[in-house]
Amino acid sequence: MIGNVSQRVSSLLYRVSLMMKPQVVFVLGGPGAGKGTQCSKIVENYSYTHLSAGDLLRAERAREGSEFGQLIANYIKEGKIVPVEITINLLRKAMEETMEKDAKKFRFLIDGFPRNEDNLQGWNTVMDGKADVKFVLFFDCSNEVCIHRCLERGKSSGRTDDNRESLEKRIQTYLQSTRPIIELYEKHGKVRTIDASRSVDEVFADVKAVLDKED
Ligand code: ADP
Ligand code: AMP
Repeated sequence: MIGNVSQRVSSLLYRVSLMMKPQVVFVLGGPGAGKGTQCSKIVENYSYTHLSAGDLLRAERAREGSEFGQLIANYIKEGKIVPVEITINLLRKAMEETMEKDAKKFRFLIDGFPRNEDNLQGWNTVMDGKADVKFVLFFDCSNEVCIHRCLERGKSSGRTDDNRESLEKRIQTYLQSTRPIIELYEKHGKVRTIDASRSVDEVFADVKAVLDKED
C-alpha cells in the first residue's frame, strides 16, 4: 500500500518535472513539403506551439536595428543555412517567452530545424538537458512536387527565395545538409515519416495518427 502511494507520488513528481521541460518535435522536409501548413493544423488540434526557424529568421531580418538583418537576407536568398548562433538564440528566446507567458505551453513544434550538422551541434551545446526531443516529423516529398509548390506559393508569398534560382540552391542544401541529419535520427529510431505528396487532409490524417500514438 505504502509502496503503491510512493510509486504514484514519484510518478506524479516525474510528470511535473517533465512538464517544466520543453517537449520538442523537430519538423523537417524539403522546401515546400508542407511543414508550415501541417504545423498550423497541428496547433489547431493539439496543444503545441509552432516555431518556424525560417519565420524567426525573417522576423529578425525585418527587425529594425538588427545587427544580423543583412547577413540573414543574403543567406536566405542564396538558400544557405544561417549560422547556428543566430538561429539557436532566436529559438531559445521564443521558447522561453512562450513558457514565461504560460507554463502549460511546453510542447513545441520546431519547424525547419536542425537543418545541418552545425544546427545539431548548436542545439546539443545550448539545449542539452534543457529540452527533450521526442521525435522528428519528416514530411517526405519529391523535389519536383516541392519546387512546384514553392513556385505556386511564390505567386503571392513575396518571399525572396520562392523563385527557380533560389529553389535549385535550397533543394541542394536540403539534399546535402538536411537529409543526413534525418538519416542520423532515423538510426536512433526517432523519425516518423509522412508521405507529404498527397492532399493537405490526407497528410494531416497521418500526422494525427502519429501524434495520437505518441501522446
Ligand atoms: P514548407 O513550410 O514546408 O516550406 P508550406 O506549408 O509553406 O511548406 O507549403 C508550401 C506551399 O504548398 C504552400 O503554398 C501551401 O499552401 C502548399 N501546400 C502545402 N501542403 C500541400 C499539399 N499537401 N498539397 C498541395 N499543396 C500544399
Ligand atoms: P523556410 O522558411 O523553412 O523555407 O526557410 C527559409 C530559409 O531560411 C532557408 O533557406 C535558410 O536560408 C533559412 N533557414 C531556415 N531554417 C534555418 C535553420 N534551421 N538554420 C539556418 N538557416 C535557416
